[in-house]
Amino acid sequence: MKPPVAIIGGSGISNIIKGQRLTVGTPYGPTPPLTVGELEGKKVIFIPRHGENHSVPPHKVNYRANIHGLKKLGVERIIATNAVGAIDQRLTPGDIVIPNDLVDFTRSRHNTFYEGPPVTHIDVSEPYCPTLRGVLTSANGSSGHESVEQVVMACTEGPRYETPAEIRMLRTVGCGIVGMTGAPEVFLARELELCYASICFISNMAAGLQNSLSAQEVEDRGRDTTRILNDIIAEAVREIPDRRTCPCAKALASAQLSKPERARGGGKIA
Ligand SMILES: [Zn+2]
Repeated sequence: MKPPVAIIGGSGISNIIKGQRLTVGTPYGPTPPLTVGELEGKKVIFIPRHGENHSVPPHKVNYRANIHGLKKLGVERIIATNAVGAIDQRLTPGDIVIPNDLVDFTRSRHNTFYEGPPVTHIDVSEPYCPTLRGVLTSANGSSGHESVEQVVMACTEGPRYETPAEIRMLRTVGCGIVGMTGAPEVFLARELELCYASICFISNMAAGLQNSLSAQEVEDRGRDTTRILNDIIAEAVREIPDRRTCPCAKALASAQLSKPERARGGGKIA
């Protein structure tokens, strides 16, 4: 059986598959209830990032449990969905973006699996898996959407939205979109040598670029976009190559100074 593909559902994204429900125990606590099913003839696992009823705010999501649980189930590839605000004014609500880089402005989150030895410095020169990004970008293109390329995501701590001055700062440092859940998720996936890419939908213009911002608006936009996103994700799942040729699977090989655990088949996870 081929390794399952995981889909992390964010704000406004409903379950894309039907199937068996289960919760996985991890050293960091249990995952939310996952759904294990099939999509395009492949085994797929859906995980609701914010819990079953969207009850967990972005800064309280147990990112380590979510990623560790997926690793435990044999997942090698993760497609994450994120609701984001647009800073880049070429983007408008309803657009879909596959970001290529990220700036992490979070402050209070458990952002690593490696709290002790072996000291581990993971390389994130290319934080998102190039293969998954390519597959998502071409699936987005074939759905008739024009992609804005080379978009950098800012991940803020939340749960409040940003101030207009913060948005001006984010634009100055090159960020085109802003959300609250991109980090540490992407980095935790790399630490466990999982492929990870994000598909973002623009739910609103960021603060200062529209009159005001409501959580309901973000939720509603997500619901409107769900069908389009689901189609793109289904095509991406179909097109993911069976074999991994990207560097993600060997991320730990160059991340640790001494590697006795690696020699026994896997870095020690704190
Ligand atoms: Zn990869």
